[in-house]
Amino acid sequence: MTTRNTKQAWLDAWLQAKPIDLNACKCGGRAYRFVLLGAPGVGKGTVAQMMAERLGLAHLATGDIFRAAKSLPAASLSPALQEAIGYMQRGELVPDQTVIDLVRERRACLHWPAGFVLDGFPRTVPQAEAFEQLMRAENLALDGVLNFELPIETIVARLGGRRTCSKCKAVYHVVNMPPKVDGICDNCGGPLIIREDDRPDAIRVRMDVYQKSTAPLIEYYRSRNMLITISAEGTPDDVFARTCKTAGIRCGGNPC
Ligand code: AMP
Repeated sequence: MTTRNTKQAWLDAWLQAKPIDLNACKCGGRAYRFVLLGAPGVGKGTVAQMMAERLGLAHLATGDIFRAAKSLPAASLSPALQEAIGYMQRGELVPDQTVIDLVRERRACLHWPAGFVLDGFPRTVPQAEAFEQLMRAENLALDGVLNFELPIETIVARLGGRRTCSKCKAVYHVVNMPPKVDGICDNCGGPLIIREDDRPDAIRVRMDVYQKSTAPLIEYYRSRNMLITISAEGTPDDVFARTCKTAGIRCGGNPC
């Protein structure tokens, strides 16, 4: 089983709501289950991607579901999903119930044997409450909620240079993490694009939305003793190493 096939098992199940083959996971180690928090541009998607690649975790990003839906014919989408795409294009949050239903529909992904890293969900307190119930019903426990912090000027610089693979969703940065060939994904050869919601107008709305809707989640998880705050300064490798150290993650029994 190659890394690509292993990744494909949870990616198809997550993006296209296909059944998941849990036997595709050859991790053989302990599972890690984390939620990632942080303002847009803080680099949590990159850390999530590294956790997926290096620890075998399923990278479950709700934003990726909406972006994948956007490239499908409108007639094949449910009315709720069609409406959701409009919210995403404006940089606004999709209604809670739509997102909660989508995650619930894909709950088999939460059972990926190596564990998961949830990126972009929950995003509001009602979503966090619904997620807590879902985890309880599935008999699963979170290891923690990783909250990435970065000064605002650094965030703006990071967002401006971000490029995303239109095929496999891998994330790059023109300065901090360039692909080997300009504009081409190292993983799958797909074209790199600027995400619609990384354009300046949408970025402003997303920052605002984060302060109003997502920042309250920090208190929600702190009061439950689940919050692990991590500085997102430095290179992706620095942040990954700091994350493993702070959250007590061990790769194959050894510290990462
Ligand atoms: P992201 O890639 O996580 O920044 O998400 C991109 C966009 O998808 C957001 O700006 C929202 O429009 C939508 N979205 C993703 N996840 C959620 C969520 N948990 N709740 C509401 N909207 C979401």
